[in-house]
Amino acid sequence: MNGLEVNRGLATRYVCELGEDVLRKKAKEVKKIDRKIIELLDDMANTLYEKDGIGLAAPQVGILKRVVVIDIGEGLIELINPVITRQEGEQIYMEGCLSYPGHFGNVKRPAKLTLRAFNREGQELEYEAEGLLAVVFCHELDHLEGTMFIDRVIGEIYTAEQLKAMSDAEEGEATLEEVTSDKVTSGEVTSDKVTSGVADEGEVASGEADEGKAASGEATSGEVGAGGTGANGAIAKEVGGGRAI
Ligand SMILES: [Zn+2]
Repeated sequence: MNGLEVNRGLATRYVCELGEDVLRKKAKEVKKIDRKIIELLDDMANTLYEKDGIGLAAPQVGILKRVVVIDIGEGLIELINPVITRQEGEQIYMEGCLSYPGHFGNVKRPAKLTLRAFNREGQELEYEAEGLLAVVFCHELDHLEGTMFIDRVIGEIYTAEQLKAMSDAEEGEATLEEVTSDKVTSGEVTSDKVTSGVADEGEVASGEADEGKAASGEATSGEVGAGGTGANGAIAKEVGGGRAI
């Protein structure tokens, strides 16, 4: 020991909760990876593990810097100035948040994405993510913009108690396969077309002739709402078994 190294041990930081202004502000890019940033990364990782979370963004510990730590059980990932460069598909997960403990809701995220970020050595790395990791990346990047998962929730926000009661009732079987409510717009087409022509005399007649078709539009609209489980009632897979992000 030369007396210069400070053993910070497992220093942790206070985690801000919904209602605190800092969670709603945009974080600033890290210009230089200095000692303060390294300490921030260390403390954030300690905090993540102490709280048994799977992701934590710097604004959640009151620091408006673009810094994130994640561990979904596959090792610690540290992200400095992360940027999503590609995304595709959709998935819905039930998310929670360390800054809004005990509350959960379904959120739609890309199914797959590519992300670039710097590590603590200043190297730029590229990550390919899907499933849970993609969800957590998106959730944390939202925090850097001052966005919370509750801003994106589809349907209700559930408390942990509600979820437990629901899963006790259904033995945890309810998995949201697919959001069926997107099918809604198909019925509107034909009747609009009937009136759309300029009122040239010749065309008026053809407009009338189309009325038969307009009726078929109704047939389509009969399907609207036939989709059974919408996003509201269904419960998506819980992120990391209910652990907060
Ligand atoms: Zn969060």
